[in-house]
Amino acid sequence: MINIHSSIIFLAIQEFFQHESCGKCTPCREGLRQVVKILYRIKDKTAVTYDLQQLYNICKIMIDSSFCGLGYTAPISILSAFEHFKDDLYKDIEGDVELDEWED
Ligand code: SF4
Repeated sequence: MINIHSSIIFLAIQEFFQHESCGKCTPCREGLRQVVKILYRIKDKTAVTYDLQQLYNICKIMIDSSFCGLGYTAPISILSAFEHFKDDLYKDIEGDVELDEWED
C-alpha cells in the first residue's frame, strides 16, 4: 500500500536525481525542483489535491521532454504509483476527492 508516509521514500529518490541532474534542460532541472517541493509538502501534511495534480503533470512533462535518460527516468516511480495506487495517494491528502477530474 502507498500512503503519505511513502513520500519520504519518493523524496529520497527524487533528491538523489535532483543532485545528479546536470541542469542543462528545464524539464529536468525545474521539474525535479518542483517535484521535491511538492513531496516535502506531502511529507509535512500541508499538500492539497492540486499538489498531486501538479506532481503528476510535472512528471509527465519530464518524461516527454527531458533531454536525457536521467530526466525521463526520475519520475517513473511516481507515475507508477499514480498508475497503481492513485486512490491511496489521495487518501491522506484531502479525504474523498473526485479522482477523474484531471485524467490526462
Ligand atoms: S535530463 Fe539530462 S540533460 Fe536534462 S538536466 Fe537532466 S541530466 Fe541534464
